[in-house]
Amino acid sequence: MTSQKCWICGSDATTGEHKTKRSDLSDVFGFVSQDEPLYFHDQKSKNRHLRSFKSKLLHSSARICSKCNNERTQPYDRAWEELSNKLRNHNPKLKPGSIVRANKIFSSNSKKRMLDAYLYFIKLFGCHIVESGALIDLEPFSKALLEGRFHPNVYIKFKCGALFAGAPRTGMSDLETVQITKSGRCIMALWHYYIDGLAVEVIYIEEGYEHPELKGVWHPRFGTGRFVIGAA
Ligand SMILES: [Zn+2]
Repeated sequence: MTSQKCWICGSDATTGEHKTKRSDLSDVFGFVSQDEPLYFHDQKSKNRHLRSFKSKLLHSSARICSKCNNERTQPYDRAWEELSNKLRNHNPKLKPGSIVRANKIFSSNSKKRMLDAYLYFIKLFGCHIVESGALIDLEPFSKALLEGRFHPNVYIKFKCGALFAGAPRTGMSDLETVQITKSGRCIMALWHYYIDGLAVEVIYIEEGYEHPELKGVWHPRFGTGRFVIGAA
């Protein structure tokens, strides 16, 4: 096996990040086994049996070292785990137009915890870039993760009501490059993360560009923990 480098810190890398968070999968599906598999669909194939949440099908091919995959990004994973859980179990149930306040979600340090949850999506975004080969500079992504700061050009948007085959959708879309220059540089790209019908849209757009898709986005630099749920 050829040695590969971690795209975040540059060390030797052996692991791949889970595409959909394991805690999110077990919250939604409970338990999978040899006898009770799930069915997995992606853009390459449909109805593949999934018999374990450790399955290769669920891992990104982008390499990350174990330090980055574990201790370095653990606060980010944990913050998303909590946010995901609270949004899905929100009372009253979230619908398009619902207003969420981070300080009602996180009992303390809500500003920092929202930034951490956002950084979880920066980690997945970097994996998407590596995997797809899209011409987007990875350096600001690794810098954000290493320094625990936001990426100036990545926005997120929360939506609800996403369906797949009539049931609440869970999983992750591929990276979609919305706008590319003649030389192939990507100006705008986006993808979605779905968990039981809750959708997080993650958007990269270069400085100085505008797009209607940016309506309703949240970014840590806005300095507010308030966001509005959109329609998926
Ligand atoms: Zn690393």
